[in-house]
Amino acid sequence: KPMDGRISDLGPPHYEQFFPPVIKANKGKWLWHEILQPGVLMHKSETGDEVYTVRCGTARLITVNFIREICDIADKHCDGFMRWTTRNNVEFMVDSKDKVQPLLDDLKSRGNKFPVGGTGAGVTNIVHTQGWVHCHTPATDASGVVKAVMDELFDYFTSMTLPAQVRIALACCLNMCGAVHASDIAILGIHRKPPMIDHKRITGVCELPLAIASCPLGAVKPAKAEVDGKEIKTVKVTVERCMFCGNCYTMCPAMPLADPEGDGIAILVGGKVSNAKSAPKFSKLVIPFLPNTTPRWPETVEAVKKILEAYAKDAKKYERVGEWAERIGWEKFFEKCDIPFTEKSIDDYRLAYNTWRTTTQFKY
Ligand code: SF4
Ligand code: SF4
Repeated sequence: KPMDGRISDLGPPHYEQFFPPVIKANKGKWLWHEILQPGVLMHKSETGDEVYTVRCGTARLITVNFIREICDIADKHCDGFMRWTTRNNVEFMVDSKDKVQPLLDDLKSRGNKFPVGGTGAGVTNIVHTQGWVHCHTPATDASGVVKAVMDELFDYFTSMTLPAQVRIALACCLNMCGAVHASDIAILGIHRKPPMIDHKRITGVCELPLAIASCPLGAVKPAKAEVDGKEIKTVKVTVERCMFCGNCYTMCPAMPLADPEGDGIAILVGGKVSNAKSAPKFSKLVIPFLPNTTPRWPETVEAVKKILEAYAKDAKKYERVGEWAERIGWEKFFEKCDIPFTEKSIDDYRLAYNTWRTTTQFKY
């Protein structure tokens, strides 16, 4: 029976069913928390109750066997409860301090499968999208790039040695079902070529008006083409208008735009959601294009690492990447991170006909 009085069983079960008893009993009563060590948090309630959380990094795509192992750990230590964070970390919660060390020992005994960390002034797991394994419009992979980057940044996951937390995100296209718009470092898949139109298939698999209406820039127009000696109704793309977003492909499978040379990665930095110390910020483009060098994306890994290490060396305590870049000035940011500066690095460069100085952020 649905516990919240719903009359149907449609939709997900009510989340309260999945609360550990200590969380349920203290809902709305939590006063403060502290990080006891990397990956271990303690939350204190006004009732005096405490909950200890051990956070472990996982890959986003995991096997059934691995999920069974997680459930076994939860059964053994946490009365069967566990939770996932939005960054694909798994969290095991216990209601007293003496249960923490046995849990940590158990996790450690399982090799590298359950790295504990991802809290405070470090790099937590990279939030990311579907990539080549699932979605239809990606310009790069998601899990593959994240694995390559995170392998290199692993020590920042298990420690808290950075000036502040660094949130890294990946979205494999700019339609972005991820969170790259407001991340300290964002990895974004971009297409650079317009859709190719398969005139032979288009009438069989697409509603032409829908394909035309799908384009936010009005670049898809009705057209006619000859197929097997017959004139058919189809569409054409005004290439100068196209921003390679892939929306038309979402509506019409006969308009694919994936291309091994055209597709790649852009890097954005300086975004944040938090309003602590300074207002939330959008990420800004700093590297317009890096190639999809499978299977380990060395150019992307190096670029992210350089930015992170320059920030780690230079920023003040509690300063986020964007706050650091704004304090030292964006010119210095490019210099320190060894990133070439191009006109594409300025968000309003199209208005700058003979100078790039349309913004107070740049002195070039
Ligand atoms: Fe699909 Fe784009 Fe989301 Fe990637 S970011 S999963 S390509 S919608
Ligand atoms: Fe329009 Fe985007 Fe398709 Fe280009 S890729 S034609 S901008 S919908």
